[in-house]
Amino acid sequence: MPKDMTETTVFDRRESDARSYCRGMPAMFSTARGSELIDADGRRWIDFLAGCSSLNYGHNDPDMKAALIDHIASDGIAHGLDLHTDAKAAFLTAFEEHILVPREMDHRVMFTGPTGANAVEAAMKIARKVTGRTNIIAFTNGFHGVTAGALAATGNGYHRGGAGMALTGVTRMPYDGYFESQTDTADFLEVMLNDKSGGIDAPAAIILETVQGEGGLNAARPEWVQRIAKLAKDHGALLIIDDIQAGCGRCGTFFSFENMGVTPDIVTMAKSLSGFGLPMAMLLVRPEHDIFGPAEHNGTFRGNTHAFVTARVAIEKFWADDAFQNELGKKSNLILDKLADLAVMVQGAKIKGRGLMQGVDVGSGDLASRICARAYETGLVIETSGSEDQVIKVLAPLTTPEETLRDGFDILLKSAGDVLASETRIAAE
Ligand SMILES: *Cc1c(COP(=O)(O)O)cnc(C)c1O
Repeated sequence: MPKDMTETTVFDRRESDARSYCRGMPAMFSTARGSELIDADGRRWIDFLAGCSSLNYGHNDPDMKAALIDHIASDGIAHGLDLHTDAKAAFLTAFEEHILVPREMDHRVMFTGPTGANAVEAAMKIARKVTGRTNIIAFTNGFHGVTAGALAATGNGYHRGGAGMALTGVTRMPYDGYFESQTDTADFLEVMLNDKSGGIDAPAAIILETVQGEGGLNAARPEWVQRIAKLAKDHGALLIIDDIQAGCGRCGTFFSFENMGVTPDIVTMAKSLSGFGLPMAMLLVRPEHDIFGPAEHNGTFRGNTHAFVTARVAIEKFWADDAFQNELGKKSNLILDKLADLAVMVQGAKIKGRGLMQGVDVGSGDLASRICARAYETGLVIETSGSEDQVIKVLAPLTTPEETLRDGFDILLKSAGDVLASETRIAAE
């Protein structure tokens, strides 16, 4: 490769200051396979970020790649608006057969523009149209995207600050465990909704993540989610579960809410939906709420046929039987064991999350960031999460072999050891 191709100054010179992940991980990444990222000089990193859970099946899955190459080589349609294409039919059929029917879900599938935020926008609009109401209840530390409608439902103050306009139509309520006391925040919501002078406008929807991916890996208890679902029903609101990050196997089952005894009215999906890291988003909506007219929520890129091809392979390869899901159970136990080893190193640290989206709250964003920076220097890509970036978050591809998981944790634990030892040294000086 010519020298100038590994030269990263062009990013400083020309790329907007809005860039983010590359600042802490400035390598020139060039290839990737499975759970490994490789830079232009051949340096390798184990990937515990997986494109923020957009690469749950790892980088360049060989079967998805082969299907995509075949599709392109035979002049398969690349962009299809929302025309009928054989690739879309094959995806929908696989999704119906292996995901919806076995879970007795009668939902329809609506393709939106290819980002998660777009699916959330559509979900919020449907709920408002169905109910004729404006207000949507969202929770502390929820993240639902950064376009204006979705941003109103997002808690993060930094992101909200970028809106440049009033973010309206959402009432924020405390998520499960927010007060760390005995207070059940579902009681709190119930009392407020039932009080005619509680000041909350009748909600069109309640939107939640079962595990808050960006908001610090807070995991709602199934009982809490059930109570919120019932409150939504009792108050004539739709329940929207944003499964953009927690879904596609991340919590150990295809949907994060599968074993919680709730049926959401709307489910938003994106990130790992295409399986290959290609942009693709959609929502699932109960038939009675599927009320948008033709093109009422449109978008040019609702037919990323390449994504349909890889998404179909992902469903058929990983979700046609229980084998993959059974593996996920074993892997989440391993992750939990290793995180326990990390947690004992830091006083007051807490394990957060569920399934394969777990991490450790080390109590300080500065400490978490330094541990992740040290991990990057020594061969592991990993990020923080939470309002203060205080949670070290493990989002390894679900397909990561056990041995690679162990290698990644060796780096992480060693990095934490290095950072903590240097702190002790500094304190002693
Ligand atoms: C990432 C994410 C979104 C937004 O998806 P984009 O593709 O970044 O717009 C929405 N909700 C959740 C839970 C997410 O993790």
